[in-house]
Amino acid sequence: MKLESILLPGIENKRPLVISGPCSAESEEQVMKTARELAKAGIKIFRAGIWKPRTKPGGFEGIGAIGLPWLQKVKEETGMYTAVEVATKGHVEEALAHGVDILWIGARTTANPFAMQEIADALVGVDIPVLIKNPVNPDLELWIGAIERIYNAGIRKIGVIHRGFSSYDKKVYRNLPQWHIPIELRRRMPSLPIICDPSHIGGKRELIAPLSQQAMDLGFDGLIIESHICPDCAWSDKDQQITPESLDVILNTIVIRDETQSTENLTTLRRQIDDLDDQLLELLAKRLRISKEIAVFKKEHSMPVLQTGRYDEIMTKRIKQAEDMGMHGDFVKIILEAIHEESVRTQLDLINK
Ligand code: PEP
Ligand code: MN
Repeated sequence: MKLESILLPGIENKRPLVISGPCSAESEEQVMKTARELAKAGIKIFRAGIWKPRTKPGGFEGIGAIGLPWLQKVKEETGMYTAVEVATKGHVEEALAHGVDILWIGARTTANPFAMQEIADALVGVDIPVLIKNPVNPDLELWIGAIERIYNAGIRKIGVIHRGFSSYDKKVYRNLPQWHIPIELRRRMPSLPIICDPSHIGGKRELIAPLSQQAMDLGFDGLIIESHICPDCAWSDKDQQITPESLDVILNTIVIRDETQSTENLTTLRRQIDDLDDQLLELLAKRLRISKEIAVFKKEHSMPVLQTGRYDEIMTKRIKQAEDMGMHGDFVKIILEAIHEESVRTQLDLINK
């Protein structure tokens, strides 16, 4: 993939690239007031949802095309670029007709290849940056498929937005970050800029700063943060919107660690990590070998592969042990489950041979 920079003229090439504005455009006054404050805080790209894909009917589904002239006014008055979510061919056409500078594709749309193709077809011959949010479900291939559809339409200014993934039990986050997914995307497509959306990941104001910091520490390129002149009055996503003033505070507080510093110490530490990874792999291989020996034993004695009691015991004991060692139980549980699953798979293979 040969991509071009998503940075438009006048936007500095430095981390983080910031996009901010309300979840939804609600009124000309709300849009203009928010935009003026953001411009004062030095924000260069203004976002606003015009068409809102809501999970259930009856919620605020966006002000629609009548809000587009408000965005034109934002541009004229503040000089900010404007960004809008598009989900259909009609949205693309209307946004372009109103001089919108950047388009983004929402998580529900990315998950639908038909919708993605329709948008891609509408973009043939157009030169505009397009930001593609991750699909609601944690499916990297589906995300990459959406990126490829836009690329195949001839768009070269492509970026992605990590907004977390839906999960059934929402505890801390509205959408689970599952950082390994955008990190794997970076490994697969290193030139693709990644923007983090802490507003939709966290779902609450107090999570915006820590999530933004985490995204910067992971080397993400930008942040898209919802802001509203009166967050508590917002017609959509009010719990996660912040004032332009709070945004300014957060942006001035997050620490951008300089990548160009001397990497000598880092090299030594990385060597140690490489070494430990080698040891981990060897241990895993050894564990699997023993598990195969157990399979032979089970086969000879006509025992079932899975012994639930034993599995429970291993999990409970090891998770406790890991927690005593200062690790998160959830983290170790995922690893142990994966190891156990592979072990069962190998044993089944052997026994059924
Ligand atoms: C939004 O950005 O307001 C939005 C609808 O986000 P998402 O597609 O990530 O849910
Ligand atoms: Mn929103």
